[in-house]
Amino acid sequence: MAIRKIVEIGDEKLRKHCKPVEKFDIRLRLLLKDMAETMYQNDGAGLAAPQVGILRRACVVDVGDQLYELVNPEIISREGEQEGPEGCLSIPGRAGVDKRPMRVVVRAQNAKGEPFEVSGEGFLARAFCHEIDHLDGVMYVDIMEREIIQDDEGEDDGSSVSTPEPADPPAKNTVRDQPDGEASL
Ligand SMILES: [Zn+2]
Repeated sequence: MAIRKIVEIGDEKLRKHCKPVEKFDIRLRLLLKDMAETMYQNDGAGLAAPQVGILRRACVVDVGDQLYELVNPEIISREGEQEGPEGCLSIPGRAGVDKRPMRVVVRAQNAKGEPFEVSGEGFLARAFCHEIDHLDGVMYVDIMEREIIQDDEGEDDGSSVSTPEPADPPAKNTVRDQPDGEASL
């Protein structure tokens, strides 16, 4: 296994429509392993093949529960809506807020070519959508509602008095399992 170099925005490979995977061979298995290792090394929650310069329809996702290897994935149903922060390993140092379905069902093949379906909700649904978009050359900056301006770090000289924010009452309908938006996809 090996860490692969992540292609960054501006590289035309990220804008290509990727071809289906047709050979379920050792090269595919190595690609998926390398992609997972590269994702974990960069503290990401997902990575698509074009992000490592391979224009094939394959991606990996792990939002903290398990690793999904998705070959030739497609979203076969979408439900609801969520708005939240999203980042991308190919767009380092930036994040934006966009709308995604709250729940999706993905049909894909595993590394052996066996078909399966997996459903995802919340951040997992967001991750599936983000990675599958990459396979069509689409990035979150194309669909985001607004950019998140990151606070500069190390600017606190101690002169500002930190006032604790009053605790908000627990909001109804809040998605509580959503991470803080720091995991890039
Ligand atoms: Zn991405």
